[in-house]
Amino acid sequence: MRVVVTGGAGFIGSAVVRHLVLNKGYEVLNIDKLTYAGTETSVKAVGNRPGYRFLQADICDRAAIEQALVDFRPDRIMHLAAESHVDRSITGAKDFIDTNVIGTFTMLECARQYWLTLDAAEKQAFRFLHVSTDEVYGSLGDDGLFTEETPYDPSSPYSASKAASDHLAKAWARTYGFPVVVSNCSNNYGPYHFPEKLIPLMILNALDGKPLPVYGNGANIRDWLYVEDHARALDIIAERGRIGETYNVGGRNERRNLDVVTRICDLMDQLRPQQVSHSRLITYVTDRPGHDARYAIDATKLETELGWKAEENFDTGIEKTVRWYLENEWWWAPLRKGYEGNRLGLLDAGK
Ligand code: NAD
Repeated sequence: MRVVVTGGAGFIGSAVVRHLVLNKGYEVLNIDKLTYAGTETSVKAVGNRPGYRFLQADICDRAAIEQALVDFRPDRIMHLAAESHVDRSITGAKDFIDTNVIGTFTMLECARQYWLTLDAAEKQAFRFLHVSTDEVYGSLGDDGLFTEETPYDPSSPYSASKAASDHLAKAWARTYGFPVVVSNCSNNYGPYHFPEKLIPLMILNALDGKPLPVYGNGANIRDWLYVEDHARALDIIAERGRIGETYNVGGRNERRNLDVVTRICDLMDQLRPQQVSHSRLITYVTDRPGHDARYAIDATKLETELGWKAEENFDTGIEKTVRWYLENEWWWAPLRKGYEGNRLGLLDAGK
């Protein structure tokens, strides 16, 4: 099996690459621009495997993508490359429109042109998995879950750009019969998560004794999924998902942001004991504009139709994650030095 993964130097993409190369023995071509959010150190574990290749390229660069597909001849494409940080989309939306909308369009067109050159059997087996977020559905009230039928209602420039890309992907299936499958997932957490995102930010700030900034009153709810569960889900959806269909992916692990931060403080108290609890560092900051109140995913379709189930519950997953950050400074220290932080001083309280 030969798989192109876009965005494979990012958080989720690198988990997908590690899963496909190390657990499945697939040949993988990782296409990544290496923006501030991507680093080859996240795929160090597969770097010297014979089946693994890396191409530094922009998914908006049509010539580079066309050539890569012709040279590598994939059986499957898993498209994860994106600008993914909500706060950055509020302060500068252009990169999000370029990569998430134009980049997805470019990937779809290059992949379709390549697919047209395949023989009948190869064409039938080919899949293009477009990876997206539950944020396209907008915000939930106190009750209910996002299903695959929930109407789109994005709030941020990030989620609007992802919604646009989902519509393009689905249109390519309907209009051209191109074998696209779409997945929409809840908040991921786990190893190799860029230090600006909520969970790593809180772990690393707690480690340094810096304030732990929580948006608003911390009551916003997210449904957390361990990244390796997501990587397995994406592999299963790419392999067996029905063409033109959407699959929601979620961990059934709803938590208030404040509870997530408090749990991290408890773990830090255990693993790096101090005289006063790390929770003293929690500070409340002005809420993010357009901040969605609650996300929660109904993953029944994926569970019943394709037999996937999340294996990690939040309590064990968050402990593994905190331990991983404490043990892997080699990975996060250079990234933390290199990035300029949130441009308007906003700090992420979600993805
Ligand atoms: P990330 O920001 O960690 O990684 C994105 C990767 O894409 C980086 O390696 C970056 O270098 C690369 N990239 C960005 N622009 C590019 C371009 N123009 N050309 C080529 N490569 C480019 O993101 P992530 O959290 O791993 O998210 C991956 C995908 O999953 C995204 O599509 C995101 O919308 C989706 N998603 C993320 C979450 C989450 O909680 N993080 C949840 C659901 C869905």
